[in-house]
Amino acid sequence: MPGFELFGDLERKHLNDVLENGVLMRYGFDAMRNGHYKAKELENKLSETFQTNHVQLVSSGTAAVTVALASAGVGAGHEVIMPTFTFVASFEAIMALGAIPVLVDVDDTLCLNPKAVQEAITPKTKAIMVVQMCGSMANMGALQTIAQKHNVLLVEDACQAIGGTYKGKPLGSIGHLGCFSFDFVKTITCGEGGAVITNNEQYYLNADHYSDHGHDHIGNDRGAETHPFLGYNFRISELHAAVGLAQVQRLPEFLQIQKRNLNILKEALANIKEVTFRTVPQGGEESGAFFNFFLPNLETARKVIDGFKNGGVDACWNYFDNNWHYIRKWDHLKQLKSLYPISKEVKDGLKHLETKSFEMSDHYIGRNISCLIKLSWTEEEVRARGQKMAEIIKAVL
Ligand SMILES: *Cc1c(COP(=O)(O)O)cnc(C)c1O
Repeated sequence: MPGFELFGDLERKHLNDVLENGVLMRYGFDAMRNGHYKAKELENKLSETFQTNHVQLVSSGTAAVTVALASAGVGAGHEVIMPTFTFVASFEAIMALGAIPVLVDVDDTLCLNPKAVQEAITPKTKAIMVVQMCGSMANMGALQTIAQKHNVLLVEDACQAIGGTYKGKPLGSIGHLGCFSFDFVKTITCGEGGAVITNNEQYYLNADHYSDHGHDHIGNDRGAETHPFLGYNFRISELHAAVGLAQVQRLPEFLQIQKRNLNILKEALANIKEVTFRTVPQGGEESGAFFNFFLPNLETARKVIDGFKNGGVDACWNYFDNNWHYIRKWDHLKQLKSLYPISKEVKDGLKHLETKSFEMSDHYIGRNISCLIKLSWTEEEVRARGQKMAEIIKAVL
């Protein structure tokens, strides 16, 4: 996954363009910039890449999720359905807007289980936030049907699945709004950055204003702009956008390497009968950012992880025991450890989490192993790695 592995001349060129004119801010300073608008150029390129009319760059993936929800009017009193297996940014963004995160099970796609989503819908549900985890996706057709039936938003967090597709459409472009992260370890990186994509012009205009203090961006005198509504600062800088512009131009190359590496690893484990692969919904194609597989149970998965560690197979995790990505370890959420008071409504909405069990999620996350796929591996290195993984797994079984 991490695009930083292949930084090169193109990143340097775009960065130098910015440093030479000295304008690090994406808005204004037109006379100084020698025609360089890296953030705008990157938005145009992302719009083409993700086949979506509108793109708003922001300062991070977490900002993207926050801005996407805010742009569609999600706030106090609303429930947002999200998975038990995701990055902590999902509930951070929901709670930053005063809305209530409703956690539901994942299935063998490692993403939202449509049946669990259906059961979690209430009159307060405003959005379903699907998180396309580890390079693949949820059953999007089923989630679209549910969203349509109940007239709720479908927001796609595609931070970990840049370049994956469902029925030929780029992940992120299927819901009403899509979110991307370009943080340091993502497939496209610019250090810190993110994007919101949408075909809805109103959501886009809202995102454009909201992410820059509510500025209307009309005319070219920032001092004279009006503020149709309250905003915040989620802006990206020209320096970050410059690196992102180089990286997105290289995305086809990155995806080709990722997919080749994924296929080699899959082949290496394909004939071990106790190993099964995650379900990729019909019509879906993974981005190849990660290789995911299931073992018969949690105990074997833990042993295999130990074996990998001792055997020098790095960058593999069993997320059951992981601090960042799975509900079991989110004590700060379950115990609502907040620096500032939280509304009674949100507290009441989360009260049940301390005692609630998520058996279906435990079943899949407990048996899963997820390995990062690096861009810098040669074909020989990936083959050797696959062989070593197979040997270690067979020894444990
Ligand atoms: C990385 C990530 C984010 C947050 O992105 P940042 O740019 O690090 O804020 C959100 N959701 C998912 C699924 C991620 O993997």
